Amino acid sequence: MKGTLITGLTNNHEVRIYISQTTDMVEAARATHDLSPVSTAALGRMLSATVMMGMMSKIDKEKITVQIRGNNEIRQMVAVADTHGNVKAYTSDPQAPTLLDDQGRLSVGQAVGTDGQLIVIRDIGMKEPFIGQINLVSGEIAEDVAQYFSQSEQLATAVALGVSFGNDAHVNYAGGFIVQLLPEASEETIDQLEANLQGMMPLTHLFEEGLTIEQIANQVLAGLGLVELETYELRYNCDCSREKMEMGLMSLGKKEIDAIIEEDHGAELVCHFCNKKYHFDETELRNLQTVHTEHLS
Ligand SMILES: [Zn+2]
Repeated sequence: MKGTLITGLTNNHEVRIYISQTTDMVEAARATHDLSPVSTAALGRMLSATVMMGMMSKIDKEKITVQIRGNNEIRQMVAVADTHGNVKAYTSDPQAPTLLDDQGRLSVGQAVGTDGQLIVIRDIGMKEPFIGQINLVSGEIAEDVAQYFSQSEQLATAVALGVSFGNDAHVNYAGGFIVQLLPEASEETIDQLEANLQGMMPLTHLFEEGLTIEQIANQVLAGLGLVELETYELRYNCDCSREKMEMGLMSLGKKEIDAIIEEDHGAELVCHFCNKKYHFDETELRNLQTVHTEHLS
């Protein structure tokens, strides 16, 4: 369930790149949520983008949540990443039916639709979180994430994301890259980068050809010189715990917990991200209330 991220900067310090290989992580998401191919492609692209966005943060404790609200077969997807390479994700529609584009390829854009939003929440756990929201451009995820960066963070950004499948519907390759122009980028650099991106094969094709993410990064930045490479490990990993579920229950308040005890004599909470179940019996719920009351007094 691990992946790899490489970060780099061009020789002239005008362009930076984050590029990831997330094959096993997307396969883990597929298996965890029993995802159909188009749901795998959509959620896989999204979690690949989110884990890179987490790694772009300079604030150690930051959590980044990316949410996509679609209007077709996939109505909601959520991915949460930290700044250490961990990401978790789920969708409201794990079994979205296969939709194909004109060329017979899986169409994530059609499954998500274009009448929707991409929302990014950056939370450092102290003050109010930063929330950025854009309307979807194509529902294909990569273009939407690029639009988010240029609109909400004023950073000219190109994004490519891809998930491909083997004959048995397992994930063969997954990954993506985010390339950003730094504010002082020259016209020559911009032209070179645009030419490189236009001349490239689709990402999944490059993976199928056996190229490594380092080789792909060199194609993206051809003629600009890639330096300052750093490699990081990525993980598809849920950080839920009994303690966090207790906090969630306690935040409901005494009245609500009383009602749960009265009606159900216990509670079973399921983590959306990993499907782990947490059971609380009547005594445990009463104990939580005591803690809650002490907390308030
Ligand atoms: Zn979990």
